Amino acid sequence: MLYRIRRSFFWIPVLAAAFAGVFLSCERPQEPPPRTAVPAEPDLGEAIMALAAGKTANAAADAGILINALNGAGLPPELAVRLEAAAAESPAFILDLLSCLEGDPFLRRLVDKSHPLPEGYEPEDLAELSPGSYEVGRRGLMLRRSAAEALERMAAAARAGGVVLTASSAYRSYAYQVEVYGRNVQEMGREAADRESSRPGYSQHQTGLAVDFGSIDDSFARTGAGRWVLEHAARFGWSLSFPDGYEDATGYRWESWHYRYVGEDLAAFIDTWFDGIQQYALQFIHAWEGLRRP
Ligand SMILES: [Zn+2]
Repeated sequence: MLYRIRRSFFWIPVLAAAFAGVFLSCERPQEPPPRTAVPAEPDLGEAIMALAAGKTANAAADAGILINALNGAGLPPELAVRLEAAAAESPAFILDLLSCLEGDPFLRRLVDKSHPLPEGYEPEDLAELSPGSYEVGRRGLMLRRSAAEALERMAAAARAGGVVLTASSAYRSYAYQVEVYGRNVQEMGREAADRESSRPGYSQHQTGLAVDFGSIDDSFARTGAGRWVLEHAARFGWSLSFPDGYEDATGYRWESWHYRYVGEDLAAFIDTWFDGIQQYALQFIHAWEGLRRP
């Protein structure tokens, strides 16, 4: 049974009263509001405020969608239950979710073994990485501008702490990923290649938002850079994509060196609500946005 509105969502009218400065005892209008008063496609913020206010039919639908997304996103059941309770208890979860849904949709786009990028996708604002606060493994590495700037901010903080980050791999085009994946299949066989490299079209590197640091092997985790970036990345909007012990969820073995830029709001959302597991947060957002689409 997926669709149900919990009694615990009853905090919502209380919150609405505080927001709107009205009393719960206000009488409902006798007539339904004129059609023109309700936008045909309210934006998400309005829908959630309406949800919080508990005063429109859409609000109830959106509350149902939230529950359905949590339960239909393929999350571990105990995580879904915990988040459902948290969402019902206070508006913090919904408000944090909202802040992640503003801006560039590619920051939150689910790109994994079963969710490819749009065919032929190529980011428009790729910028070449220039060594400064960080080193580069080779010339010509590129990231999208927002990610390149966030990398610079993170690397400057690392360097201030005596740690030098090295970007070893960044944007990879579809065509380049054909080579990388093909070479891995030749060297290690398809099954092993699939554990640590993506089929073309399915790579986070093709988004222009992902970086591999340092040695691109397990030894990176034991370096000063590996430890520093694990501890501080989220503050700069970066998130470890394939953590240790989550191969069943991500489809990839642990990659201590692979980080994706998701923006500071989403990085905080991942850490606060999803135990730092990017895959779960993106699966949830994917489910939520899919259900909200007409
Ligand atoms: Zn990578």
